[in-house]
Amino acid sequence: MVKPDGVRANHTDAIKEQIQAASFAIISQKWVHLNESAAIAFYAEHSNRAFFPSLIDFMTSGPVLAMVLEKPNAVAEWRSLIGPTDSQEARLDAPDSIRARYGRDKQNNCVHGSDSQEAAAREISFFFDEYHQSEMKLDAKYDDE
Ligand code: ADP
Ligand code: MG
Repeated sequence: MVKPDGVRANHTDAIKEQIQAASFAIISQKWVHLNESAAIAFYAEHSNRAFFPSLIDFMTSGPVLAMVLEKPNAVAEWRSLIGPTDSQEARLDAPDSIRARYGRDKQNNCVHGSDSQEAAAREISFFFDEYHQSEMKLDAKYDDE
């Protein structure tokens, strides 16, 4: 997912070029503006963290671009391409990573990546199943490109 900061700063095309240069196939994509209940559901695992309210404000602040990426070992390969959560740490440890290039800090880190096969399945369903869209009132403001 390209998060609201990445979309706002017009990094989406550059990120997609980096995705394709790393030999991922983009299987599906969708522009979505998450509402509050959808953002809370997406990040439920972090609901007890101090940064949660700020994370929900951030994630609802503008549209995101959700994508299904395909490649052997895609989960680990994508986590490696995006780099560490904290963009400042990424600039030191993984300077060519997407978060190093386009993120700003621990929260505004430009992209999301599923952290396991199970999370990937859940998150793909979250964004791309019609059922979940009506259940969680995702506010799709853009047509597919
Ligand atoms: P990741 O996105 O690398 O899997 P986490 O799952 O730990 O990282 O956190 C989810 C998101 O919450 C992060 O991508 C980031 O936007 C935000 N976040 C994580 N930790 C912090 C923090 N300490 N302060 C502010 N925001 C944070
Ligand atoms: Mg995570």
